[in-house]
Amino acid sequence: MLSFEDARQLVITQSKNHSGIRPTVYLPISEALGYVLAQEIRTDREYPPFNRSTRDGYAVRAGEATLGASLRCVGEIKAGDTVSAPLDSGACIQIMTGAAVPPCSDAVVMIEFTRRTDDTITFDRSTQQAQNIVPRGSEARAGEIALSPGLRLGFAELAVAAQVGAVSFRCYKKPRVAILSTGDEVVPINETPGPFQIRNSNTVSLGAQIQIAGGEPVPLVNALDRVDDLSEKIEQGLREEVLVLSGGVSMGKYDLVESVLKGMGAEFYFDAVAIRPGKPTVFGRCRNTLVFGLPGNPVSTMVTFQLFVIPALDILNGAEPRSLPQLEATLTEPLKEKSGLAHFLPARLDWQASAPQVRALRWQGSGDISALTRANCFLVVPADRAEIPAGEKVSVLPRSDVL
Ligand code: AMP
Ligand code: MG
Repeated sequence: MLSFEDARQLVITQSKNHSGIRPTVYLPISEALGYVLAQEIRTDREYPPFNRSTRDGYAVRAGEATLGASLRCVGEIKAGDTVSAPLDSGACIQIMTGAAVPPCSDAVVMIEFTRRTDDTITFDRSTQQAQNIVPRGSEARAGEIALSPGLRLGFAELAVAAQVGAVSFRCYKKPRVAILSTGDEVVPINETPGPFQIRNSNTVSLGAQIQIAGGEPVPLVNALDRVDDLSEKIEQGLREEVLVLSGGVSMGKYDLVESVLKGMGAEFYFDAVAIRPGKPTVFGRCRNTLVFGLPGNPVSTMVTFQLFVIPALDILNGAEPRSLPQLEATLTEPLKEKSGLAHFLPARLDWQASAPQVRALRWQGSGDISALTRANCFLVVPADRAEIPAGEKVSVLPRSDVL
């Protein structure tokens, strides 16, 4: 059986084969968060555009502002103002953070290290040339690439676009992802379930995970565990670039997803991964659609989405797939799991400690979503480890929306 690392690699390879030339959309900056940039954005001028003071204090000639020396303050420069006259010898100018340093001044002394009597400023420290000044053009030259195609637009990237005046630009369209839950026991969330039925939480959690991963969710009506209903709903899902199914991929008599897909011409790249939860996960292609069949137990659905669907959506978004963020932490309570499968256990990672610590949470297995609300990560127990004593370093996969 495939390891999750190998299965993930297969997803990446096949998604790259599939992705082709991506369609783009021209977006205003206010709508671009989470999109991947499809064009270059260049600087419109040098950054900073002038020699910028990084402190509130006094602009000086460094050689004159020695320890114990006094200079005459001849004015002030606010952020946004300029002073074109060069700084006279023996003089200094009060300057604010973000203001342009005047000609002939080569240092800014923080106000905290000065004393003022009327217009006489006395210095409590020696002054180094260039201190507290960011020279013009040192962050970026004019016309240089500020943001490259393939970059995912988060708050910092949007700030750079804003800084250089790029108010709209071309991004890759988000891939549309059909969501198809399956199961005779599953009812819509606005209906009251019968005593042995459950509400369809997977369509909601998958929709949220798809949005966070940069896809556009297209929820379909739940399919019953019957060949005719499954075929009809899968047919709807195949209109989109990606189809994510939940349920119906295990070994039960009514787990029909794989056989129905096969009957519709699907080829599979894998149909099992050595993990728990999530072992029966299916990944393949049917006509022009990438298809993920995730197990229906809600925690299995969530874990397998994070492991396998996210890299595919990265690629279809026009970005490089993010590597799986695995952190190292010290286990605080011993663990015992069946070996042979890699386990992903809802767990709590504590950053407050001087070294990160993690413990698995009590849970009732892969149906226990409420355990996941208390978890900020999954503790990864390798397939070849049945027992791990407290104090050992373990690998931790942060929940993609929490850490
Ligand atoms: P399956 O993978 O189809 O065998 O489903 C396993 C279990 O997951 C079912 O017995 C349900 O308890 C649960 N389940 C399946 N589909 C959903 C869903 N859409 N929302 C919430 N729970 C589900
Ligand atoms: Mg089912």
